[in-house]
Amino acid sequence: MYPNIKKNFGFGFMRLPMIGDQIDLEQTTKMVDAFMAAGFNYFDTAHGYLDSRSEPTLRKTLVERYPRESYVLTNKLSDNFFTTQEEIRPLFQQQLEVCGVEYFDFYLMHAQDKRIFQKYKDCRAYETALELKAEGKIRHFGISFHDKASVLDEILTQYPQIEVVQLQFNYLDYESASVESRKCYEVCRKHGKGVIVMEPVKGGRLAQLPEEASRELKDSPASYALRFAAGFEGIFMVLSGMSTLEMVEENCRLMADPKPLSDGELAAISRVVEIMNRQNAIGCTACGYCLAGCPMGISIPNLFACYNSGKLYGDFNSRYYYSLHSHSGGNPKSCVECGACEEICPQHLPIRQLLKDAIAFFSRKK
Ligand code: SF4
Ligand code: SF4
Repeated sequence: MYPNIKKNFGFGFMRLPMIGDQIDLEQTTKMVDAFMAAGFNYFDTAHGYLDSRSEPTLRKTLVERYPRESYVLTNKLSDNFFTTQEEIRPLFQQQLEVCGVEYFDFYLMHAQDKRIFQKYKDCRAYETALELKAEGKIRHFGISFHDKASVLDEILTQYPQIEVVQLQFNYLDYESASVESRKCYEVCRKHGKGVIVMEPVKGGRLAQLPEEASRELKDSPASYALRFAAGFEGIFMVLSGMSTLEMVEENCRLMADPKPLSDGELAAISRVVEIMNRQNAIGCTACGYCLAGCPMGISIPNLFACYNSGKLYGDFNSRYYYSLHSHSGGNPKSCVECGACEEICPQHLPIRQLLKDAIAFFSRKK
């Protein structure tokens, strides 16, 4: 699909090895070398990753050591670094300079959701990026996305110039009520967009399964997670935010020639999902019955899905999605305790108390 990309596995520069609060440059350099030596060449960064240290580290370990055409570099326009259209070009120029390159192969509108998309529209961010593409400073234009499939459909309809979409996609989020991996993927297919997968191993959690779940698998859990993500038509890149040399070596071995999961292996990961869901803190089945009666429009099943994910995995993304669903689907703090949701919930969940538990959980410091 993109001739410069050698293989469908990419290195996300957001969880690099640390020594204290400093990035371990020596180990990162070895990781980059091992990745390139194994025949991979796709790198992903963003201005804010690792407190803005990802881009300069990429420059030192990759850009200053390899010819520009030998690797593919993706960067992003992130919401928290601009407030007006006028600030976008200087920010982009700064990103080029910090990375030490003259163009980005892919430039993505970062972490689009309904609210952020509106801001990007107001600031004409998409139009500005498309101008930069016409000037040759961006080779391919895309978005990374975190919201409901219906929002993605709206964005792709409004901006058919989008070439690629980066999605959170893994076998545990595939049918998740809050992430909607499958539905988002299907929207991308409907619009004919290439898909880049982020979080295929759910922040490393699917590489370290609880014992009961890992007994279902014959190979390493990471192999199942990566091969699942790579096995869908239109997914041309699977990213991993790797943080050790061993992780790079292991993942490069697994992704050298990834075989699609067999029927037996797909059945095994279905059992893993069942086990993981059974361990959820809240037995919400995401039927959605409670939504119609809630006078405050609280997105109850989505918030519970985030709570379950946060409790099970302690992952950054559950906090992100919790915040997203609190803003777009009614803040749980606005619950007036009318009890209408509990009357209708077929699982007889104490929803009012569980919402308080979720609020308390996500109010805690990370
Ligand atoms: S108790 Fe709270 S969450 Fe349930 S329906 Fe009433 S306002 Fe909505
Ligand atoms: S009615 Fe109960 S089980 Fe169904 S989505 Fe709402 S909280 Fe979940």
